[in-house]
Amino acid sequence: MKMKVQIIIEYETGEETFTHDVACLTRGDLLPETLGLTLAEGKDLLAKMQKEMIDHQVAEYIQQSQHCSNCGSKHSLKDAKYISFRTPFGKLKLDSPRFYSCNCQPRLKKSFSPLAVALPERTSPEFLYLESKWPSLMSFGLTADIINEILPIDISKSTLHYNSMKVAERLEDELDEEQWTFIEGCERDWEKLPKPDSPITVGIDGGFVHAREGDNRKAGWFEVIVGKSMKEEKDSKRFGFVKTYDEKSKRRLFETLKSQGFQFNQQITFLSDGGESVRDLQLYMSPQAEHVLDWFHVTMRITSMKQMSKRLASHEEFKNIENKLERIKWFLWHGNVFKTLKVLDDMLFDIECFEDDLEYGNLPKFAKAVREFRGYIYNNKELIPNYGDRHHYGEAISTAFVESTVNEVVSRRMVKKQQMRWSRKGAHNMLQLRTKTLNHELRDTFQRWYPGMMTSGEEINSVPQALMN
Ligand SMILES: [Zn+2]
Repeated sequence: MKMKVQIIIEYETGEETFTHDVACLTRGDLLPETLGLTLAEGKDLLAKMQKEMIDHQVAEYIQQSQHCSNCGSKHSLKDAKYISFRTPFGKLKLDSPRFYSCNCQPRLKKSFSPLAVALPERTSPEFLYLESKWPSLMSFGLTADIINEILPIDISKSTLHYNSMKVAERLEDELDEEQWTFIEGCERDWEKLPKPDSPITVGIDGGFVHAREGDNRKAGWFEVIVGKSMKEEKDSKRFGFVKTYDEKSKRRLFETLKSQGFQFNQQITFLSDGGESVRDLQLYMSPQAEHVLDWFHVTMRITSMKQMSKRLASHEEFKNIENKLERIKWFLWHGNVFKTLKVLDDMLFDIECFEDDLEYGNLPKFAKAVREFRGYIYNNKELIPNYGDRHHYGEAISTAFVESTVNEVVSRRMVKKQQMRWSRKGAHNMLQLRTKTLNHELRDTFQRWYPGMMTSGEEINSVPQALMN
C-alpha cells in the first residue's frame, strides 16, 4: 500500500492549490514496527508540512505588502534577501524581498522589508517557550538531546543556553524598581480594605551553588535564597535569587506575595532560619507580618549537638550534657530565651574548663557548635515565639516545607551533579526560569508577551512530578 500526503490550500478568493506530494509512505505486511508513522517519518512529515504552510503564509503576506497602502501603486523590488526563522518543526529560510518605499510618502525610509517588520524575532514563541521551560527542569544537554530526537530540528546546547537566558532577562526586565519598604498607607487605609481571606505563610531559606569563575576550578560556592509563599486553596508560589547578584530581592518577594492576593490587612507569617540576609528581606513587607525563627532549623542544630555530645557523655564531667541539651530544647519550645541562654552559658562555662585538655577528643568541635548556637539564639531572640502555644493553636512553626523548597528550586537542577558550576548571573537567571515554571506561570507569561499564541490544554503548563523533587 502507498499513501500520499498532499496539502490543499484554500484562499479567501475561493481558489485552491494542491501542493506536490509532501510525503509518500509505503507499507507491506502489517508489523508492529511499521503500523502507522515511524518517528522519522513523523518528523519528516511535520518538517515538510511546516515548510509548505510557512512558504504559503509568507508568499501571501509578501503579495499583500507589494502595493503601497496609501496610493496603491506597486513597490519596486530593491533586492531579495532571506530571513531564517526557527520553529519547533524546523529552521526555515524565508524569502524576504526588500522594496523601495513609495514616492507618495517622502518621509518614509528609502526601502523596507515587510517580512522583517512582521517577524522582529527569529524564533517562534512556541519554540522559545520550549527552550525556556525544559532547561529549567533538566540540564541543557539533556534538553537538547530530547528536542533533537523528537522534533525535526537540530539545536545545540549553546543556542539553548543563549535563548533561555534571554527569556530570563526579559522576565527580569519586567520587575519593577526596588524599594526599601513596601508598606503603603496607614492603619486607617488598611482597615478599609476588604476582609482578607486565609493567612499567608512564607518560608525562606538559603542554599549553596558551586561557583564558576572562568577556568578557576576552586571558585567555591555562593549563596542562593529561595522561598515559598503558601496559602490555603491556592497554588504555592516560589521565588529565588542569588544573594550577591540580585538588586531587587524585596521587590521580588513583594511581587510573589501579590501573586498570592496579599493585602496589607492580611495575616502573614514569615518563617526562616534567621540568617541576616533573610531577616532583612522580610522586613517592611506588611504591617501585619509576624516573623518566626523556623523550629525545624532550631531542632536540627540541637540534634547535631546531641550527636557530638554522645562521645563526651562517657566522661563523668559531661554526663549531664545530653540532659542539658534536652532542657534547652524544652525552654526553646516554650519560647523562653532567657532560660535557654542561661543553660547555654552554664554549659559553656563547664566546657571551657576542659577545652584545652586533649583527653576529651571532640570537645573543641562541640564547644564551637555550642558557641555558634548561642549566637544564633541571641541574634534571633526577637523571632522566637512560644512554639508550644503556636503549635497548640494550629499556627505554623516549621518550614520543613522550605527545606524541600531549597531542594525543589535549587538542588534538583543546580547542585546534584558535582561538576555543575554556575556564574552568579547564570544561576540567578536559572532561578527565575525555574520558579516561573514550577509556579505554572511560564506559559501565561508567554501568552501575555505573544497574545496570538494559542492556548493549549492544561498539560502543556504542567511539570512532571519526577522533575520537581
Ligand atoms: Zn504610494
